[in-house]
Amino acid sequence: MLNAQALETLQSELGGRVRTDPEQLYPHSFDGMRLAFPYEADIAVEREEEVGTVLRLANQYDIPVTTRGAGSTLTGAAAPARGGWVLSTEKLGGIALDPINRTATVGPGVVLATLQEQVEAAGLFYPPDPSSRKYCTLGGNLACNAGGMRCVKYGVTGDYVLSLRGYLPTGEYVEWGRPLRKYVVGYDLRSLWVGSEGTLGVITGATLRLLPRPERQWNLLLAYPTEAAALAAVLDGLEGGLRPAILEFLDIPSVTGAERAAGRPIFADCPGHSLLLLQLDGSAREVEEQRALALAWAERGASAYREAASPAEAEELWNLRRACSSAMFELGDSKLNEDVVVPLDRQVDLLHHVEDLRQRHRVNIAVFGHAGDGNLHVNFMHHAADPAECQRAREALGELMRTVVDLGGAISGEHGIGLAKSPFLSLQLRSAESEAMRAVKQALDPCGILNPGKIFEPFEVWDKPKESYRFPWDHA
Ligand SMILES: Cc1cc2nc3c(=O)[nH]c(=O)nc-3n(C[C@H](O)[C@H](O)[C@H](O)COP(=O)(O)OP(=O)(O)OC[C@H]3O[C@@H](n4cnc5c(N)ncnc54)[C@H](O)[C@@H]3O)c2cc1C
Repeated sequence: MLNAQALETLQSELGGRVRTDPEQLYPHSFDGMRLAFPYEADIAVEREEEVGTVLRLANQYDIPVTTRGAGSTLTGAAAPARGGWVLSTEKLGGIALDPINRTATVGPGVVLATLQEQVEAAGLFYPPDPSSRKYCTLGGNLACNAGGMRCVKYGVTGDYVLSLRGYLPTGEYVEWGRPLRKYVVGYDLRSLWVGSEGTLGVITGATLRLLPRPERQWNLLLAYPTEAAALAAVLDGLEGGLRPAILEFLDIPSVTGAERAAGRPIFADCPGHSLLLLQLDGSAREVEEQRALALAWAERGASAYREAASPAEAEELWNLRRACSSAMFELGDSKLNEDVVVPLDRQVDLLHHVEDLRQRHRVNIAVFGHAGDGNLHVNFMHHAADPAECQRAREALGELMRTVVDLGGAISGEHGIGLAKSPFLSLQLRSAESEAMRAVKQALDPCGILNPGKIFEPFEVWDKPKESYRFPWDHA
């Protein structure tokens, strides 16, 4: 009854931007994790102040609000787990470049690839590059502190944030930081919002730091007979002075999948090897110096290597990396995709553990990812219609998480916790640490309306059927 009253007020204030037709609500009832939840209304705000209106009403009537960008998170963080309202910031666009101060001021609904195209046309560079860049929004990137392949040299989204503006869960307008190179005024609540998965506020604008666009890029693909040899080469290269813009690893099952997809071996002389992919960038002189180092490094340990002589050849190399993700669906129709991190010198231990999990749990696992950061994507492939196999995959996943923490690592390096990793939070955080986080949440969101059910409450309903909806990135 009370919710009907709140909805009526909302509709009178925001008109057609509020939708309640179940068919229209469906696409926002889940995110990339594909677990759907019923909810009441979808609100596509078109002006920043409307966010304040929505939050004030939600507070008054105690209605859960889940903020949403493109819904590409893989963790359930953008799904309305407690129903209520979904607040979409996709229509809050706008890009203003300031080449003198090297900044971009953006709306949260701007798609990352759109920003990068404009920035690069102006001779500048915005490095964060999650693989979902053609679809995901900057609001989602900021709320997840998104990473990607270039983190090894350039860091994560949070490293580029000068200031954020938006609304507290109570509906008050705030600006954290200012569009300045340096700013030390009070607590750094800008960093608190970054990576908070939409639980502490709604971002309605951001000023981001830009870099000069690198003059040149150079790409190299290397094959190693074993995964351990490839990961040892990562350490050898970094210790030897390589400064990669990207350094990616593909285990043998990932390579086998990519080769099957391509219909031919990647290196004819050594099929089924583990691969590394390297990209260097910078000024022509920097790239030339680093290239000499990289070729000597390749000679030291790789069974074979191939440099990309043209942008078209480079694209071919990176297509291999992209192909392994979709190719692994031959191993199962469902994926538990983890983004764990371990210290660089424990990646080999992690791979040994994965092999042990494959054998003991009889589950297909493929590993690839950002070896230069120790951030590996461990993909547990299984068949949704086979409950025994699903159960084995989940048990293997639980063991992986415990091992990651034992190795001194982290249960998430870039996707965040959401619903998917909430059962493992207590493995990572001491109770004093999670209590401090809950206290922050309580202070900023006393009614607990913003994205409730995420991060802190262990989500255990794994048996819910997953939506078979096809997202734009499924067609890529
Ligand atoms: C194919 C694919 C590849 C991916 N590759 C990577 C990768 O390489 N690296 C990586 O880090 N991630 C990756 N991801 C995960 C995902 O794309 C990123 O987390 C992305 O940053 C999410 O952006 P989004 O616009 O889709 O946000 P959504 O999924 O809509 O939302 C994500 C979170 O942000 C919150 N949020 C959204 N907008 C706002 C706002 N305006 N204010 C406050 N909170 C907000 C939501 O409540 C939710 O908690 C990938 C996902 C897919 C599907």
